[in-house]
Amino acid sequence: MRHYNIPFFIPELGCPHQCVFCDQHRISGTPKVPRPKELSSQVEAYLATFPDGEKQVEIAFFGGNFTGLLPEEQEAYLAATTPWLRDGKVQGIRLSTRPDYISRENLELLKRFGVSSIELGAQSMDEEVLRLSGRGHTARQVEEAASLILAHGFRLGLQMMTGLPGDTKEKTLFTARRIVELGAVETRIYPTLVIEGTHLAKLYREGSYEPLNLEETVERCKHLVLIFEQHKVKILRLGLHPSEGLINGNDLLAGPFHSALKEVVETAIWGELFREAYAQWQGTSVCIRVSPKALNAAIGHHASNRKWLEQVFKKVNFNADPALKGREYRADPC
Ligand code: SF4
Repeated sequence: MRHYNIPFFIPELGCPHQCVFCDQHRISGTPKVPRPKELSSQVEAYLATFPDGEKQVEIAFFGGNFTGLLPEEQEAYLAATTPWLRDGKVQGIRLSTRPDYISRENLELLKRFGVSSIELGAQSMDEEVLRLSGRGHTARQVEEAASLILAHGFRLGLQMMTGLPGDTKEKTLFTARRIVELGAVETRIYPTLVIEGTHLAKLYREGSYEPLNLEETVERCKHLVLIFEQHKVKILRLGLHPSEGLINGNDLLAGPFHSALKEVVETAIWGELFREAYAQWQGTSVCIRVSPKALNAAIGHHASNRKWLEQVFKKVNFNADPALKGREYRADPC
């Protein structure tokens, strides 16, 4: 069943402070926080764009610390979504929040208003990385919050970052493994970018923070994708959604930004599979079959996997084969 989010960005609303890497206004390109009474017209506008047929729709509050709002403010936002939940046009509410703002009382409030999915910004499960990133919470708090969320029957998402101050490849992979162990069924992976106006921008200018380059980022993300894939944790997003300010403006000071990062990472994973195997492939031509879903990724971003194989084989074909799934492929002479 297709899933649709109707997103509302509430930049840094409810945040106790600004984490060193964060400026949600610039990241989301949303200068203004929507008020509860403004939700109605946007929900209707989104619903009108969704195709007929069976679908799962969630109204989503992103970009802030939802449970850091006063209970009456949370209730005002959630109550504004009730008409669509009641008439079945929307099946649930999704929100992102901080691990240190999860309590039994608050989870009960969210439950009452039909919240279905909670995404926690874990960012790292390494204490030093959390401290250097100014998160203001510990890994233990992520664990406790995750367990409370699951115990209350919500769908759990844990978001993570790579390349934060003090982070290493090992710490990044450790974080991913802990996310799996903590029972998340969804994740988002964000490579750290240096956004103008943040504390990280100051550290970068002083020379005390160096972002990852794109190659290192792709290398780390390749492993993350494989870990999450293996454990059936759905990756909802890999890399920041490219807002106008990030692509064309002055918001991005440094860091491994790529508007199609997921594609680049997928290309690298498929490229590695082919590089490990091509020496055993017989003949001067090769016809590679992959699942229909994987076809574009196997061919590669800007057809880079195909172009590389064309340097080795006289003829290279890629075809979709519905009998294959995931990372399965067949390589035969054409
Ligand atoms: S990272 Fe999350 S908690 Fe930190 S300032 Fe940004 S929105 Fe708030």
